[in-house]
Amino acid sequence: MIFEGQAVKVAMDDARVATVTLDLVGESVNKFNSVTLNELAEVIAILKHTDDLQGVIFASAKDVFVVGADITEFTTWFKLDDEELTDKLRHAHSIFNDISHLCCPTVAAINGIALGGGMELCLACDYRVMAESAKIGLPETQLGIYPGWGGTVRLPRLIGADNACEWICGGAQKRSADALKDGAVDAVVPADKVQESARHLVQQILDGKLNYRQRRDELRAPMQFSPIEKMMVFESVRGVVGAKAGKHYPAPMAAIKTIEKGVSQEMEKALETEIKGFVKLAKGPVAESLVNLFLSDQAIKKSAGKYAKNATPVKQAAVLGAGIMGGGVAYQSASKGTPIIMKDIRQEALELGLSEANKLLNGQIERGRLTAAKALKAMNGITPALSYGEFDHVDLVVEAVVENVNVKKSVLAETEKHIAEDAILASNTSTISITELAKDLKRPENFCGMHFFNPVHRMPLVEVIRGEKSSDEAIAKTVAYAQAMGKTPIVVNDCPGFLVNRVLFPYFAGFSLMMKEGADFQQVDKTMERFGWPMGPAYLLDVVGIDTAFHADQVMAEGFPDRMKHEGVNAVDCLFKLERFGQKNGKGFYAYEPDRKGKPKKIFDADIVDILAPTVASQTELSEDDIIARMMIPLCIETARCLEENIVGSAAEADMGLIYGIGFPPYLGGALHYLDQMGLQAFCELADKYSQLGKLYEPTARMREMATNNETYYGN
Ligand code: NAD
Repeated sequence: MIFEGQAVKVAMDDARVATVTLDLVGESVNKFNSVTLNELAEVIAILKHTDDLQGVIFASAKDVFVVGADITEFTTWFKLDDEELTDKLRHAHSIFNDISHLCCPTVAAINGIALGGGMELCLACDYRVMAESAKIGLPETQLGIYPGWGGTVRLPRLIGADNACEWICGGAQKRSADALKDGAVDAVVPADKVQESARHLVQQILDGKLNYRQRRDELRAPMQFSPIEKMMVFESVRGVVGAKAGKHYPAPMAAIKTIEKGVSQEMEKALETEIKGFVKLAKGPVAESLVNLFLSDQAIKKSAGKYAKNATPVKQAAVLGAGIMGGGVAYQSASKGTPIIMKDIRQEALELGLSEANKLLNGQIERGRLTAAKALKAMNGITPALSYGEFDHVDLVVEAVVENVNVKKSVLAETEKHIAEDAILASNTSTISITELAKDLKRPENFCGMHFFNPVHRMPLVEVIRGEKSSDEAIAKTVAYAQAMGKTPIVVNDCPGFLVNRVLFPYFAGFSLMMKEGADFQQVDKTMERFGWPMGPAYLLDVVGIDTAFHADQVMAEGFPDRMKHEGVNAVDCLFKLERFGQKNGKGFYAYEPDRKGKPKKIFDADIVDILAPTVASQTELSEDDIIARMMIPLCIETARCLEENIVGSAAEADMGLIYGIGFPPYLGGALHYLDQMGLQAFCELADKYSQLGKLYEPTARMREMATNNETYYGN
């Protein structure tokens, strides 16, 4: 061993080929933190001065190669001033440049995942051997930045400008077959043969069968394009990427700009171009939001892991109700490996639930995500039932029957009689208090909420709701089950609507108030979609279901009458009375007809103007800014209330709940992060402009206090 550090080790073989092994002490994965970077610098300095060095292989002692930069550490970089950040980047570049200038051939032995800085290290090598099972990629644009250690310069030279734009702007993790096809790696071999193959490659070079120097020179040189060719390549990627990224996410377009400039520059100049653009992105608000989201996501996963740590896993589950939600829960559970009994009181509901699950599994097979054998196993994992026959060996039951407190109470009490003493009952209610539902139960400690979102297979969030009497064991088991289903659970305390719906309904209330003042719902939808929401409020209400929204609104109004109760008939009440339930029955705010693929497509329905006319009390001119403010203020204030009342434990959990549960625009980083970025003082001033609209627009005393003290939710 010629070097042995905390993250890097170097061994030299008899033929003077060095193997630099990445193995970060005390961590399950390798990542680029300052220790790794500094030791790598040290190692390269040693190798630069090692006589008669014949080759260098970069390898990993862990299952992964390098997962990327240590984001926690690198967020501190983003707070540096431009010059300091530039210096840091130049330092990292100098290490990678030194690797690319070593006096001998260099090969990356990519045994496992190599992302971000990990992949940029591989790009600095002359050759790359990749394990079949590994994945590589440059996901930085998903954090609002772009590759900053030479990726925008080296990747286009290696795989072509158009491919590099696709890799970098999409940020996807590429499988080995795709990496080989695009030319990003030179060979793909079984994982246990990666190092041996890399060594063999070095030998071939030493034997004169491959000319690494020629390759190195070719890859360093500016790329050759005719002006027309260059224009065509970059205009076309700009068109595709621009449409996909949207105006709120600047990183992909900035990456294209940098790549376009860099491809025609000398290496050193191109790397400087990369640094300049990187600094600008890293200091922008979107990178700040997206990096914050990444950290919050890690924090909530860690917190869920802590809850689930001591839970015995759910081996057999059951779900009551085979409707939209029950069917979705059954599919998700079985497809992730937990068998489930799906009980309904109607045979036709069971048949529909099973056929929906079958459709989803077939879709997975078509997309190559599941083998037919696994799909069959999942399908066999769903046992339809009309009785409680096999409930005695069930570990956890999810109740997903109609949203009616009396029906739910009686179904839960009945179920409790048929399950084991220690089995957990969890309700998928969207709004009804868990403490209230627990009142007639014999074992309320074994009961909690497990709130899935629609469609279950797609929405990542599950709210696990702790009622007054829910035990820690019940919460732990439910969290563990949600994780086993591939979901991200957030534990919240009980109140009407819990976290997500409690925050969503004030947002809808803001919309209803605007409708009363004669707003055009299509204009509101378009404005909010331009602001970054996946769909505007009218469309979202149609998708949620006008009937569901109507009933939930009543629960919320009863729970929070001071701000969620409304006088008279609003647009949702009106549509509900006319049984325009939204997408589910073809008419709501919009009308729906099947598109070419049979999916419901919204169209404008001319009747709606007359239908809603009686609910309009006045005509107010609303600007785009007015619309955004009137929608966002109630949502933000309610989120702050949830944190103040300890419904949710942290700003990170609240924000992730909104992002995963209702598609809150990620570039804003969540409601509380949005407040931090805007500044609470500015927010309170904005809210006060709308104070005539009532309590929904009134910041809490604590928010005003925080504004005065310049406090933030994330404490930075
Ligand atoms: P749904 O009407 O599609 O399905 C309810 C099913 O329950 C029906 O098939 C019905 O036959 C069955 N059922 C009624 N009584 C039963 C009983 N005693 N035993 C077994 N089955 C019984 O409703 P849904 O949209 O799936 O909603 C179910 C629950 O999930 C509700 O509490 C709802 O608030 C909640 N939820 C719904 C959504 C959504 O978007 N639909 C989202 C989150 C949560």
